[in-house]
Amino acid sequence: MTTIKTTCSRCGDIHLTPADVALELRPGGRQGDYWFTCPHCTYTQRRPANARVVSVLLATGVQFEVINPDPITEREIETFVAALEAEPDPLRLLAG
Ligand SMILES: [Zn+2]
Repeated sequence: MTTIKTTCSRCGDIHLTPADVALELRPGGRQGDYWFTCPHCTYTQRRPANARVVSVLLATGVQFEVINPDPITEREIETFVAALEAEPDPLRLLAG
């Protein structure tokens, strides 16, 4: 099985499987951040991923997602929730 060697800030050198790692790519897909949960101390850590790290992680089959450069804001979520709460029968909206 493929293992990814990295370092935990508490444990030192650790080995992860692709399933332990998640990769977030910036638009364009060349760089991003990855994060993992240490299998020893369960401490979750986030690290920047340069183009080389991104290509290595993708080659090992790590799951990734592309981050929207213009994410939904808290205010938009609040507006959406308020609209749902104002709707007496939200399921009606799904009925078309
Ligand atoms: Zn650790």
